[in-house]
Amino acid sequence: MRARATAWRRLTAEPFDVLVIGGGVTGAAIAYEAARRGLRCALVERGDFASGTSSRSSKLVHGGLRYLKEGHIALTRESVREREALLRDAPGLVDPIEFVMPHYRGRKPGRATLAAGLAIYDALGGSWQHRYSRAGDTLALVPVLDDRALLGAHVYRDATTDDARLVLRLLTAASTAGATVLNYANAAPALESGDVVGAYVTDIAGGRSAEVRARAVISATGAFADGLRECVGAAPRLRPLRGSHVLFPAWRAPLAVAVAFEHPSDGRPVFAYPWQGATLAGTTDLDHDAGFEKEPSIAPGEVAYLLDAMRYQFPSLGLTAGDVVSTYAGIRPVVDNAHARAPSRVSRDHVVWHERGLITITGGKLTTFRPMALDALRAAAPRLPSFDAAPRPIFVRRPGGRLSGRYGENAAAVAAIAKDGELETIGTTPFLWAELRWAARNEGVVHLDDLLLRRTRAGLLLHDGATQHFDRIAAICRDELQWDAHVWESERGRYETIRREHYSLP
Ligand SMILES: Cc1cc2nc3c(=O)[nH]c(=O)nc-3n(C[C@H](O)[C@H](O)[C@H](O)COP(=O)(O)OP(=O)(O)OC[C@H]3O[C@@H](n4cnc5c(N)ncnc54)[C@H](O)[C@@H]3O)c2cc1C
Repeated sequence: MRARATAWRRLTAEPFDVLVIGGGVTGAAIAYEAARRGLRCALVERGDFASGTSSRSSKLVHGGLRYLKEGHIALTRESVREREALLRDAPGLVDPIEFVMPHYRGRKPGRATLAAGLAIYDALGGSWQHRYSRAGDTLALVPVLDDRALLGAHVYRDATTDDARLVLRLLTAASTAGATVLNYANAAPALESGDVVGAYVTDIAGGRSAEVRARAVISATGAFADGLRECVGAAPRLRPLRGSHVLFPAWRAPLAVAVAFEHPSDGRPVFAYPWQGATLAGTTDLDHDAGFEKEPSIAPGEVAYLLDAMRYQFPSLGLTAGDVVSTYAGIRPVVDNAHARAPSRVSRDHVVWHERGLITITGGKLTTFRPMALDALRAAAPRLPSFDAAPRPIFVRRPGGRLSGRYGENAAAVAAIAKDGELETIGTTPFLWAELRWAARNEGVVHLDDLLLRRTRAGLLLHDGATQHFDRIAAICRDELQWDAHVWESERGRYETIRREHYSLP
């Protein structure tokens, strides 16, 4: 990724074919698909890359069995096909995970219902993956499962990822293909004769602003899209729905596979699974009434709901709030087509809107970033010099492996910059110290929270938010970001506030 000063110079010097507003997975994918087709493309993100919903998902690359249950066949088909493409093209970043759905005497869903659903799910994905496992075998897979009245389980395959890293990998590929990308840069549409011709961009980190011109302006601002639409006089159409998660240390909730089950209080699907050396449990689905001024946070009722689910399915663990390592909350970009419906029944399909030259793409899922990006560019095509919409492999295929999945062609370079001891992991996380150094040097890090909450996830995975490693982290920031003691202290204060308010128990 280019240095900030270079990115700003390019942003303000060139007219672009495509200006993308929003640096979540959708915007990153649009920038990548545009740049790899030779289009001159820029992307601006008002916070850090992936700091919106795309670092706060359930981190599943999946069709979503529950969407199938709601009758969203097309969305499920598209998602499972994209899952298969990502498993093929991004091993080490998107990896398979087995899901266990236990069956109990007297509990829903029944064995026949689930068998039928999984048969359709596998048929849509093009391969037969699921099986039935008897009670004894199920307990061998998940020894901590409630074994009272257990009949057996259905076992099927989906996939998991590190959502923020998926965004960074797309942005790095976009930048390598020629795109200019800048975080901490807010955009507002620039209009001429009532038509959007570019955007006024404010470099929040650099304290400067400029008008950027582009043939096509695409807003990939997810749940926040109504903000830009309002600037062109469009009425709000989104319904912000919050979903929250809690993380436990692996030793307190030891799982080798994912377990999905219905919540005892309302029958909603919930899950727990091993993620980056911890156990992730989620999720909730509530109208988010707190506004967008502040980052979302988990509410006390959501913590209780998720703890109830964990205690119900894994009673022997005796989990309490004291076991929670961290929490996070995200806002789903959901189109408000049926406000009266329960949140979990609202469609997750994506939509593209044209309003006075502003193209907005929103809704959808992390999993479906590629078809979403191509749909957005198809909508922009009449304004572009050329556009070939045929899908291409997501990334150049490389042998699997964690670094290669996370960093693509830069994997060897990440390992090569390691100083003494930096090929070791940061505490109990799978993240190497060399990754932290690499990110600080090359990945547009402006704040400490960028480094600890998104480039690596150490701030989520360690009980103290990685504060016990601060001396070593400060030394890397001094080397790579030229932070003196004063800057470090202010960054540390900012990080600790964000972590306390938005990533801890309320
Ligand atoms: C709790 C939860 C769980 C989920 N789980 C899954 C899952 O397991 N699998 C799955 O496939 N999907 C999942 N999703 C859905 C998925 O996370 C989202 O669909 C996806 O991340 C949205 O990406 P996006 O790029 O469209 O939006 P975002 O990631 O929100 O990106 C939009 C960006 O636009 C920026 N922005 C807004 N206004 C401006 C402006 N004026 N100027 C510059 N930048 C601006 C914002 O800062 C933000 O970073 C989940 C969602 C939630 C909330």
